[in-house]
Amino acid sequence: MTKNNNFSSKEHYFLSKNDLIGFNMSTEANSNLQQFEFKAEMKQLLNLIVHSLYTHPEVFIRELISNASDALNKFRFVRLTEQSILNPEKELGISITLDPEKSTFTIEDSGIGMTLEELVNQLGTVASSGTLEFLENIKKQNNSIDGNLIGQFGVGFYSVYMVTNEITVETRSYTTDSKGYRWVSKGENSYTIEEIEKETRGTKITFTLMDEHKSYANDTTVKSILKKYSNFVEYDILINDEKVNSIQALWHKKKEEQNEEDLDEFYKFITNDFEKPLGYLQLNLEGNINFKALLFIPQTAPPMFLRDATDKSLHLYCNKIFISDSITDLLPEYLRFVRGVVDTEDLPLNVSREVIQSTPQTTKIRNVITSKVLQFLEDWLNNDKEKYDKFFNQFGSLLKTGVTSDYQNRDKIIDLYKFQSSNTSNYELTTFKEYVTRMKPEQNEIYYVAGDVRDNIEKNPNFEYFKKNNIEVIYLTDPVDMFSFPYIYEYDKKQIKSIDKSDIKFEDESESDDKLTENDSATIIEKFKSVLGDRVEDVKISNRLVDSPASLLVGSQGLDPQMEKMMQMMDKDYKGGKRILEINASHPLIKNLAKINSTDSNNQILNDSIVQIFEGTSLIEGYLKSPIDFYNRMVGFMVKATKE
Ligand code: ADP
Ligand code: MG
Repeated sequence: MTKNNNFSSKEHYFLSKNDLIGFNMSTEANSNLQQFEFKAEMKQLLNLIVHSLYTHPEVFIRELISNASDALNKFRFVRLTEQSILNPEKELGISITLDPEKSTFTIEDSGIGMTLEELVNQLGTVASSGTLEFLENIKKQNNSIDGNLIGQFGVGFYSVYMVTNEITVETRSYTTDSKGYRWVSKGENSYTIEEIEKETRGTKITFTLMDEHKSYANDTTVKSILKKYSNFVEYDILINDEKVNSIQALWHKKKEEQNEEDLDEFYKFITNDFEKPLGYLQLNLEGNINFKALLFIPQTAPPMFLRDATDKSLHLYCNKIFISDSITDLLPEYLRFVRGVVDTEDLPLNVSREVIQSTPQTTKIRNVITSKVLQFLEDWLNNDKEKYDKFFNQFGSLLKTGVTSDYQNRDKIIDLYKFQSSNTSNYELTTFKEYVTRMKPEQNEIYYVAGDVRDNIEKNPNFEYFKKNNIEVIYLTDPVDMFSFPYIYEYDKKQIKSIDKSDIKFEDESESDDKLTENDSATIIEKFKSVLGDRVEDVKISNRLVDSPASLLVGSQGLDPQMEKMMQMMDKDYKGGKRILEINASHPLIKNLAKINSTDSNNQILNDSIVQIFEGTSLIEGYLKSPIDFYNRMVGFMVKATKE
């Protein structure tokens, strides 16, 4: 290196005065070595990084890989247009050299490199204008800060100071007439730069690990960290000359070029699933928001899936660099079963490596992903029933909750809803769309009933009328339905009603003459009311009962009985609404009771029977509060019935 090459001329390198505080400090030792002061805010920032930022020191590896990959990306770009390229034949790659004995870590890339000016401006100053404000806030909060926020300020390089006391950067920019420089700093107040002989393009960063961080000179450790962060970096990564990243950024391949085996492998790699996915979806969005995504739907829900809401789903990459797998904002909760990768260039490179939860970009991405996934599922629903049902069986419960939270996509989710009905055989599922096509011409409402299992549902007295008249009823057996169905309330302009509710109009079609007269009906109703008192809201003659003597109904404002049960499970003090008791004026029992009532209105059997009827309907609903009284009364009846 010749002294004539001394670079300290301001005119030549466009250094601002501020950058050159006290240069040429160490002329005796090496006339080429120049010392620079960090700017005041940089000093504060470094202090914070060294002492309080980042809870996980291993992120420095990710930051270095990220910078190397950025530098390679930039080089790849300038190479397209520029003529005088240094070592044009040199392969694009990243090489890490570890020496566990000396505890050294070296990372070298063949990327764009840095000029002197860039070294000073990029490595010596804080790029983001928000940083000062950030620092002021930290001061206000008395230095207790969320270390995760630091990534937002584009100072990833300095995270290396978490594991070392001094960094050396040797770099040479990509043009043939560039020079090599060595930048050295302890990350305190100043750094030095000297010109060096460097033959090759790119940047080499070297440091000695502090004792407590020696393990980062161990290739197994570094490999496992790399696997997590950068396995899909597009350039080869070598550790001590061994290539460690094998899987390519599949989502950057064209759809036609995808090979299913690779996709399966990739899916397994990112999910730790041992089965291949049920299906995948590739997106390549350009325009309002730019991103590529490779999304998978697993065959089977991971264990504890519904309970473990922190489960990882999408991995976010920014230009092929892994950012995070815990950005929940990329997907609505009800699509949490989707796995895969989203890679966007639209997050500024200096935006958060640690936590980007809600940014305008993530929101845009979420909106696109949501509608694409719903569309994808709709396609299965219409064209691949078997797949859809398999999917729905695993993740339907979660999907259904979407109607309660995503108003924008509510209609699409409702179309994806599947359930059993009185028209389907045991485990078959149907949809609203199919239901509507089967509706009778005169039917203008959609009916459902909730219950635990199909058998019990079909014995529900309120179901008798529908069965007899062959009107389809939707069976809701999933507890989630209790929450989501009330949000649907209408489909295709037809109201959706619970058959357990009182506000359904029934044709009174029982022409049977052996029905109680209107007068007798009114009298027995009064009797029921006086015996039951405020245990019921009302007693009415039923138009819907066929075989049963009575049934309980919910008032039009009340909650479904099943829903009430859920509420009570969550809140012990929750009091359900009172019921309406409907009685069947054609049923022999009711007629017998009316007869007794007309001659002996205080008869004990009459009174007991009325209570027994009411409590029996409560029992069917699952709400009998006094089973012992019920049983004892029944014993009384049996004693009388068996008397000789
Ligand atoms: P960010 O990457 O978010 O810009 P960093 O603190 O990680 O912030 O890096 C600061 C800057 O230093 C980069 O923007 C880049 O200009 C420069 N730099 C860091 N590492 C390299 C490298 N390996 N090759 C070229 N330039 C680099
Ligand atoms: Mg960086």
